[in-house]
Amino acid sequence: MGEEKKAVIKKIQATGQMKKIMADYFYDLDNAAKDDSQKVAWCTSVGPAELLLSMGFKVYYPENHGAMLGATRMASNLIPAANAIGYSPDICSYLTSDIGSYLKKQTPLSMAYKGIEGVPKPDVLVFNTNQCRDVQDWLSWYSREFNAPIIGISTFCNIGDVTDGVLSGIVHQIKELIPILEKVSGNKFDIDKFREVMARSKRCSELWKKVLETNTASPAPMSFFDATIHMGPAVVLRGSDTANDYYELLLKELEERVANKTGAVEDEKFRLYWEGMPIWGKLRNLSEFFISLNTAVIASTYCNSWIFNAFDPDDPFLSMARAYTEIFIVRDENYKEKYIEDIVDRFKLDGIVFHDSKTCPNNSNNRYGMPERLAKKLSVPTLTINGDLNDLRCYSEEQAKTNIEAFIEQLDSK
Ligand code: SF4
Repeated sequence: MGEEKKAVIKKIQATGQMKKIMADYFYDLDNAAKDDSQKVAWCTSVGPAELLLSMGFKVYYPENHGAMLGATRMASNLIPAANAIGYSPDICSYLTSDIGSYLKKQTPLSMAYKGIEGVPKPDVLVFNTNQCRDVQDWLSWYSREFNAPIIGISTFCNIGDVTDGVLSGIVHQIKELIPILEKVSGNKFDIDKFREVMARSKRCSELWKKVLETNTASPAPMSFFDATIHMGPAVVLRGSDTANDYYELLLKELEERVANKTGAVEDEKFRLYWEGMPIWGKLRNLSEFFISLNTAVIASTYCNSWIFNAFDPDDPFLSMARAYTEIFIVRDENYKEKYIEDIVDRFKLDGIVFHDSKTCPNNSNNRYGMPERLAKKLSVPTLTINGDLNDLRCYSEEQAKTNIEAFIEQLDSK
């Protein structure tokens, strides 16, 4: 490996505001968990959050906590505690690190937010298997631990066209959640409140999409590594004005960068797609490494997963079913390839990095020949990095960096 150039990650000014609204969100949840008059719902990240919000629940997302465990590099030490009670090291390391965190009573929340001692106790747990089965098993463990009801939606997987037949079953399942949610919350379902939350979520999705699309500019104003942090409000605060105000602010800053031709990477030479999960504990490290190679990683499947084009407040049930079923992870290989093809073209990308995440087969799309097919079809080189979202024991930094460097040399010689 050659000498690394000194890399500087350009600070996004809106970060301060993002940290503030995320802190407010966690304190609000903590207060709700300590107040019997307020109810807390745990929800999978692309679960029916808007329905829960409209019924007065404070919504907590365990996957967000999983990502925090990865980003703070606490995960690898906590995973063995979950392994010891029967959860395999081969299954989702969000799940194993999160359960390990609970068992060992160690959470990044109490380090970041003074006074918060643990995750908020759930009154109900709500899943959607659109992303994987692990989320249902994960929430089931907590359901037993807290003696709280678990309900959810079972979505098909590997879908080509999202047909009416597929959606009608999902709409039915969403509606079946309502009587249980009414009982737990003590609130009657109100279609107008549901429409209002859907309208705010729709706006959030539109703004987040615009934020990501600023990277079609050359140089690109924001890296994938920045975007994984700034997507926090789209994950946990969608459905609120707070999230929308935040993305207006971020968008303005990025549009100014585009107008001033300020790139996230100085002297941007190559532009890449990141396919698969982030390696949470190595975001900064990888970000700096790519900057040192004048390479901008600027588009991804992962950050795009919180764009929900279908949301329609006039038809909230059907459009929610469609939005949460249309997402990339639910779809078949043909759809995924066309999706990536479109982005490679619109973002003028030079290559694709596939992250084979050991414990998340659902978000590792390199395993059935896709890199080879895309490389041939698009005449764009691809690279596969072996690693994991949270379990850093599955990642060799030296090997990854050697492979990335060789990949960039390959691009250079084209
Ligand atoms: S999609 Fe992957 S990372 Fe997300 S919960 Fe499922 S297995 Fe874990």
